[in-house]
Amino acid sequence: MLTAWISYTPLLAAAAYLTLLVAVATRPRQHALQSRWLLAYLALSVVWALITFLTPPGRPAPDLAGALLLVGATLLGQTTAVFVTRHPEKQWLRVGGGAVLLGLAGQYGLARLNLPPALGGLGNGRIAILVIWLALSSAIFLFVWRSYRQTRLPWHANRALYWATALLVTFGGEALLLTNLAPLGFVGQFVRFLGVYALTHASSSYRLFDIRTYLQRLIAFTVLNVTAALPVMAAFLVARQLPESLGASLQILLAVLIIAASLLLYSPFRRFVARLTYRYLFGERINTNQLVRRYSQGIARALAVQELSLVIYGTLNELLGIRRGALLLVTRREDDFAIEPVPAQGHLPPQTQYVALNSLFITALLRQGQPLLQYEIDFNPEFQVLVVEERKWLHEINMEVYVPITAGGNLEGVIALGPKRSGATYQKGELDLLQLLADQTAVALQNARLYSELNAQNARIRDLNVDLLRQNERLAIMDKVKTDFITIASHELRTPLTQVKGYADILTAINAEDGLTPMQTKEIMAHINRATSQLERVIAAMLDASQLDADGIELMPVPVSLEMVLRMAVEPLLPALRERQIRYTTLGVADLPRIHVDLQRMVQAFANILGNAVKYTPDHGRIQVHAVRVPDINGRIDHIEVTVNDSGIGIDPRFHELIFEKFFRVGDPQLHSTGSTRFKGAGPGLGLSIAKGVIEAHNGRIWVESPGADEARLPGSSFHILLPLA
Ligand code: ADP
Repeated sequence: MLTAWISYTPLLAAAAYLTLLVAVATRPRQHALQSRWLLAYLALSVVWALITFLTPPGRPAPDLAGALLLVGATLLGQTTAVFVTRHPEKQWLRVGGGAVLLGLAGQYGLARLNLPPALGGLGNGRIAILVIWLALSSAIFLFVWRSYRQTRLPWHANRALYWATALLVTFGGEALLLTNLAPLGFVGQFVRFLGVYALTHASSSYRLFDIRTYLQRLIAFTVLNVTAALPVMAAFLVARQLPESLGASLQILLAVLIIAASLLLYSPFRRFVARLTYRYLFGERINTNQLVRRYSQGIARALAVQELSLVIYGTLNELLGIRRGALLLVTRREDDFAIEPVPAQGHLPPQTQYVALNSLFITALLRQGQPLLQYEIDFNPEFQVLVVEERKWLHEINMEVYVPITAGGNLEGVIALGPKRSGATYQKGELDLLQLLADQTAVALQNARLYSELNAQNARIRDLNVDLLRQNERLAIMDKVKTDFITIASHELRTPLTQVKGYADILTAINAEDGLTPMQTKEIMAHINRATSQLERVIAAMLDASQLDADGIELMPVPVSLEMVLRMAVEPLLPALRERQIRYTTLGVADLPRIHVDLQRMVQAFANILGNAVKYTPDHGRIQVHAVRVPDINGRIDHIEVTVNDSGIGIDPRFHELIFEKFFRVGDPQLHSTGSTRFKGAGPGLGLSIAKGVIEAHNGRIWVESPGADEARLPGSSFHILLPLA
């Protein structure tokens, strides 16, 4: 009778799977992809149960039911992949398909071999299926288990744990079924259905019960009751063991007394054990009244938002033990919301995030006025329409719960908290308490925001003032440059002119007396020549400088090596370098690709820079030119960076920009140009402005670095020149 009933279980199972199938199919589709694979799996389960019903155990190969179980495991693998990673993984289908084929082949192969029936009457074909099924199901289980271990957010981890448990039950049922033993088969069918039911539930509802907390509570409850009952049980045992010699009435009296005493003590003892157990498992209970009071005092004292963020996190961390926390400031603007993170603990992306006025994240927080879990955002179908950028940002800040702070129907801020250190989920009571605290925070937050805003304004004004001062200083210097210009220009022009005039006078005077030897004539002519050349150089430099101003310079770029440019630039300086014993070296210059530049102009620019290095470096110093290839900010186009570093007197940081201005030079304008390479030999203040003009015309950049000017310590200067290769 019983066996007859048992033989109908597959049919019952088929009906049960069909019911699940219909339930899933008629449910509004939220996770269409996931449902599709689940539906396939359920449909297969129906067919498999029917085939199991139609093929009584012990039938020889082909073992259709066994093979279908493998196909089922393949579909389950795919459903699992979609559940965990949210997209189907082809390799599951490949692995599963391979496993099914292997199972069938093994089944036939082993059946042909006609081996003696193995393992308690299991057919050889079944064994092949069993082995492959075991491999496949272990792989699926391990896949989920790994995801569970790697998930940091507790509710997310719980979802994986739930699925892993349901898988374990399903596979347990299948294992029982695969043994081919009738009574176990009955249990197996039931267990498998239970597992599949749980899987279906997990994939269609995001509200899954919290396995770990449930288990913890169960353990606590069991430990508590067993321990609390121990003294009473002991009392009963002692009462039964009282020696006969006491006499019956005394025996009874003592027994009653002992039992009564133990019963009296039961309640306080149980309370004591309860305290111990809960403290051990769930930590010390916190006095909420005290906490709320302390919290209010703390936030009332916090002046700026950063301080407020720290106070909020500090209290909540003490209460719940939280890994990360931040305050998100929400500002409603004309056509969006700005969410500005103020971190308290843990790393956060520092940028302000802008979200639309109808942002689901904001409206959900406002509407429910309750903490929102990241888990809901990820798995509640309502949040499926959340904008991709918002979702990405929320993942980036990596928090577990968002508690809204509202005032007058506006969202002022959000307390964002990471997972607890214990790895436990946030419980309902805790979320309520969090909201209670957040509700108290609104006024403090508004004040702190005002205060911070005021501070920021002040800082901005201070910065502006500093900027203004700097600009003023610069203007004053530029003004001086303008007056200096006249002095410099007249000096620059008058010095050689005076020389020419002087020599011309001498020439006239001596010539009148006819007393000039050819040797003397030659010498005087040489002086005049040098002076006119100097005049020419100054005027050429002035022309160049004005040309740079007017309409830029015309370039004729040709491919040249930097090495050649440098060689040509340093050529005229070689005698001075030798004479003043300055060591000139280059590094990395030879290994660079060619640059496309106007050769003459580039030589001029480098000659000016190197000339300055010679002029502002004392005898026995050194000048080093170093060149490297550097990618630009986007890491794309290559540049070369040339650094001209000297061991000279250095430049005051105040003048780092000004020295590139026309006619600007550090020091006394009365010093007239010597045009030479003498130490500190002044020039017309045009060299660097021309160099800058040339380099910028080539889309390059030039700047200087120097710790300061000091003729005693000689800190040196480094001129950096960035030139594009293309
Ligand atoms: P100048 O004709 O006076 O050399 P520049 O435009 O070439 O004019 O340079 C402007 C000023 O920059 C110089 O007067 C000098 O004070 C400063 N300067 C330029 N190069 C150096 C350097 N290598 N070391 C120290 N000071 C420098």
